[in-house]
Amino acid sequence: MSHPTGPEAVGTTASGPFVHLASVPVSTPNEARTVRFGFTGVAAGNLAFHVLGGPDGGGTEAEVARSRRALESAMGVAAGSTAYVRQVHSADVVDATGHAWGGAAASPGGQAEADALVSHDGMTPLAIMVADCLPVVFVDESTGATAVAHAGRRGLLDGVLQNTVARLRRSAQAQSGACSPTLRAWIGPSICGACYEVPEKLRRESVRILPEAEAVTSWGTPALDLRAGAQAVLSRLGVEVERVEACTREDQRLFSHRRAPGRGRFVGVVWTEHAPRTSPPGTRSKSAEGTAHR
Ligand SMILES: [Zn+2]
Repeated sequence: MSHPTGPEAVGTTASGPFVHLASVPVSTPNEARTVRFGFTGVAAGNLAFHVLGGPDGGGTEAEVARSRRALESAMGVAAGSTAYVRQVHSADVVDATGHAWGGAAASPGGQAEADALVSHDGMTPLAIMVADCLPVVFVDESTGATAVAHAGRRGLLDGVLQNTVARLRRSAQAQSGACSPTLRAWIGPSICGACYEVPEKLRRESVRILPEAEAVTSWGTPALDLRAGAQAVLSRLGVEVERVEACTREDQRLFSHRRAPGRGRFVGVVWTEHAPRTSPPGTRSKSAEGTAHR
């Protein structure tokens, strides 16, 4: 397994279940590791239990479960080890500690409602489902902590990214006393500003909170550029942020709610290579399943 020499070595591949796959070298006080993250495409199948019936291998719960297992196999992580949440367009963040969510893929009803997930030790593979909304992946290069966030218009304006960063920063302080951890974020494939048409009133309300999101569609109507908005939010917080420039509405390799509603969801995933096969239960946090943090 080759190790990239730095962030600029982040590369892409269109093979396997991923339309974008990258490695991030991490140096914790104790060890060097490689964190990987990726964004799947239509080829990986629908990965959401709440969007069944589409023609892309996500017609039944059994098919979704199979696609999730195939993804975990491609990631090289244990079957059923990936944490998902029931996404509700909130700004809530939950911690993926212990075994509580280990079987999440098999029991979606038992998951916490939230729109961001943090693994403080980086040992729990994390997934976030999207189809036009922004999948944002976080890696703390100094602690190995990881996170994923689902940032749609509502969550973005309500502070899901700020809450995720706050959670990671608190974690870093608890672990190492570090004041300014090296936090990096990647905004994955999502609908672009030239495609995301909204009513003028909605644009006005949104840009009052987040001016950078103001946009116009390629056909000249009011729009929002959520990616530019998210980038601005993260930059203001001192997070080094990069964007994967693929528009879900334009790129047929991806699921898009606007282009083809109900077809499915792809995921952003982040995991640590060669992590122990299961997470030590309750080692980092007292929080239990279902606890939301604001
Ligand atoms: Zn577009």
